[in-house]
Amino acid sequence: MTATIIDGKAFAAGLRARVGDAAAAFTRAAGRRPGLAVVLVGEDAASAVYVRSKGKATVAAGMESFEHRLPADTDEAALLALVERLNADDAVDGILVQLPLPPHIDERAVIARIDPAKDVDGFHPVNAGRLATGLDALVPCTPLGCLMLLKDLHPSLSGMEAIVIGRSNIVGKPMGQLLLGESCTVTTAHSRTRDIAAHVRRADIVVAAVGIPAFVKPDWVKPGATVIDVGINRTETGLVGDVDPAVAAVAGAMTPVPGGVGPMTIAVLLRNTLVAAGRRAGVTVDEGAL
Ligand code: NAD
Repeated sequence: MTATIIDGKAFAAGLRARVGDAAAAFTRAAGRRPGLAVVLVGEDAASAVYVRSKGKATVAAGMESFEHRLPADTDEAALLALVERLNADDAVDGILVQLPLPPHIDERAVIARIDPAKDVDGFHPVNAGRLATGLDALVPCTPLGCLMLLKDLHPSLSGMEAIVIGRSNIVGKPMGQLLLGESCTVTTAHSRTRDIAAHVRRADIVVAAVGIPAFVKPDWVKPGATVIDVGINRTETGLVGDVDPAVAAVAGAMTPVPGGVGPMTIAVLLRNTLVAAGRRAGVTVDEGAL
């Protein structure tokens, strides 16, 4: 068997187009564009690239982009003050503080200061708690993008065995919550899990968010399983995922790296910004149609 390759790039382009249409409808109804503020502290090259592409994609979707670039030696109080100003700014529907922050700034304190209604990254404890308790939440972009790809392939995930490898607050934990919300039976594996291969072998759905190149091996995977590779690892041979490409010979469907989960993250960020704008302005956004 050769796995169907899941085209995340095409799915993300479709999502961006749907968000663009809905953003235009929002603008007509609200008399202003949805707005996303992105804050970058310091000169980390990869972060600067992400921030630039987020800004471009925001404008292309018919939204307002506000970029705030602060020097690396910005102190925590100054960053918190900027977050407060953005919280109070009515033109701003979404606030994203690009991580990682320089080591002298407490990331948790900054995330906790963002108005949960504008927390389009979904990292605020209120949104994490709302997701965990099944309330409407702003959900972290990467795992929500993974779920969209999965549901495109399997409209009902109910009863499926799923394994999430990785338990970060950004990917692994919210991914597990989303799959639980879809009535999967969820296993979360992490660096202390014994015999990961045995757990993976049971799974109909495998989500790998580990940060180790080619971590998931072909003989771990149940034939026909759907494999979602979140990993982005820069190696001498280029970008590689957390899943050994040879898994494609066993899996039923699989995301490539690059071109799988990666393009979904920014598309979902735009979706979250629109959803936040709709909720804040009291303008109906058909979230199910996005
Ligand atoms: P992280 O470093 O915060 O978490 C990694 C997780 O993997 C940890 O929970 C850890 O317990 C687990 N882990 C580490 N070694 C392990 C081992 N030997 N066996 C089992 N589990 C192990 O990373 P993260 O932020 O969750 O990101 C994970 C990967 O996803 C990275 O490659 C990152 O670059 C990528 N990522 C991609 C996107 C995207 O847009 N596609 C977004 C975020 C992260």
